[in-house]
Amino acid sequence: MGKRITAIRGMNDILPSQSVAWRHLEDTVRNLLTGYGYGEIRLPIVEYTELFKRSIGEVTDIVEKEMYTFEDRNGESLTLRPEGTAGCVRAGEEQGLLYNQVQRLWYAGPMFRYEKPQKGRYRQFHQIGVETFGMVGPDIDAELIVLTAQLWAALGISELVRLQLNSLGTSAERARYRTDLVAWLEQHREQLDEDSQRRLTSNPLRILDSKDPATQAILDQAPSLADYLEDESRTHFDGLKAMLDAAGVRYEINPRLVRGLDYYGKTVFEWVTTALGAQGTVCAGGRYDGLVEQLGGRATPAVGFAMGVERLVLLLETCDKVAHLNLQPHAYFIVSEGLEAQSLAMAGRLRAALPGLRLTMHCGGGKFKKQVKKADESGARVALILGENEAASGELAIKYMREDRPQETITEAAVVERLLALMQG
Ligand code: ATP
Ligand code: MG
Repeated sequence: MGKRITAIRGMNDILPSQSVAWRHLEDTVRNLLTGYGYGEIRLPIVEYTELFKRSIGEVTDIVEKEMYTFEDRNGESLTLRPEGTAGCVRAGEEQGLLYNQVQRLWYAGPMFRYEKPQKGRYRQFHQIGVETFGMVGPDIDAELIVLTAQLWAALGISELVRLQLNSLGTSAERARYRTDLVAWLEQHREQLDEDSQRRLTSNPLRILDSKDPATQAILDQAPSLADYLEDESRTHFDGLKAMLDAAGVRYEINPRLVRGLDYYGKTVFEWVTTALGAQGTVCAGGRYDGLVEQLGGRATPAVGFAMGVERLVLLLETCDKVAHLNLQPHAYFIVSEGLEAQSLAMAGRLRAALPGLRLTMHCGGGKFKKQVKKADESGARVALILGENEAASGELAIKYMREDRPQETITEAAVVERLLALMQG
C-alpha cells in the first residue's frame, strides 16, 4: 500500500453533516440579497498577482506574507485570490459594468491565504462578498449595514454580534494624520512592539490595530484620526450614523478600526463576536472610492463587505442554530428481492408527485429485518414496503417508524397523501 495522501494543512473537507449549516447560511444570504436587488457575479479563483499587489497594497499582511503565488507554464505570476474585491473590480471594469452605472453585486466562494491554521482561521476559507458601485452617499453604506443586521436576525445570532464603525476619511486627510501620528509615535518608538516599529515607516496606520498592551497604552494618548476629518468626510459619517439610528441598528465607534487592506477610505465597519475566541470578526467592509481608478478605470465610488462563512457557521453551531435543519429522509423504501425495477418505478412516481420529497431507496438487497434497521438508522419517518402481496394488489405498505401507529397497506394515491401530510407537518 502506498503512503496515505492527506489534505493540505488549513484546507478543510466539509462533510454532509456540516454542509447543512453552510447551505442554510448560503440560502438565507442569497434570498436576502435577491430581495435587496443584488445580482450574483461568479469570478475566477486565479488572477494575475499584480492585481492583488496594486489593490490590496504592497505593505499589507496579505501581500507581504499570505498569498499563494506561483508561475504558470508561461512564466506569468498568478495568485490564488486572497479576497474577492480586487477580482470583482477587475471584472466590473473589464466587462463595462462600472462607468456611470449603479451596480449591486455579490459573490461566494473560496479564498486562499497562507496563515497559521487555527479555529476560525484557515488557508482555504470561504467568503460571501457584496460590492456596490456608483453610489457616493452614505445611504448605500447604511443599506449594506442594515442588510447584514437583518441577516443576523434571520439567522438568530443578533445577540452575539456587535457592530464597530469608523471613518478613515479621504486619502488627503489620512496623509495629514499619518504625518502627525508618525511624529508622535517616533517619540515613543522604544515602547512600541516590534511589528509596530517596523510599520512606522511602511504602514503606520496599521499600528492602530496592534494588540500589544504597551503599544495600545501609547496609542491611547496619540492623535485621533477623527480630528483630521473635514466637512465632506464628517458629513458622510454623520449621515450614516443618523440612518443607522433611524433603522435601529446599534453600533460602537472604534477610532482604531483601520482594516488590513489599503483601499479603504471613509466608512469602515466590522461585525464582531466574543463567542469564537480570538477570531472574532465575522463580517468586515467599507468604502473604497479610489480603487477603480487605481486599477486603471474611471473614478467610481464603491462600498462593500465580505463575511467569513466558516466563522459564521461556527457561530451558528456554537449557539445551536443548526440542529433543527433536519435533512433526514421523509421515507425509506424497503425493496423485496425480484421487485427492484417495480420499486424504482414506484419511487419515481412518488418523487414526481411530491417535489421536495426526501426518499431514500434501499439498494444492495438484504433481508427485510435488516432493511427495517437501515430505515430506522436513516432517521426516516416512515418505511415504504413493496412486497409480493402489495405488488400483486397494486398497493404499498407504510410503516410508521416514529409514532405508535399500526402499519397500513394502501393505494399509491393514498401513500402520496400520507407523505404530503408528513412533509407539511
Ligand atoms: P482577520 O483580522 O481575522 O485576519 P481580515 O481583516 O484579514 O481578518 P478580511 O480580509 O476583512 O479579514 O476578510 C473578511 C472576513 O473573512 C473576515 O472578517 C473573516 O470573517 C474572514 N476571514 C479572513 N481571513 C480568514 C481566514 N484565514 N480563515 C477564515 N476566515 C477568514
Ligand atoms: Mg487577516
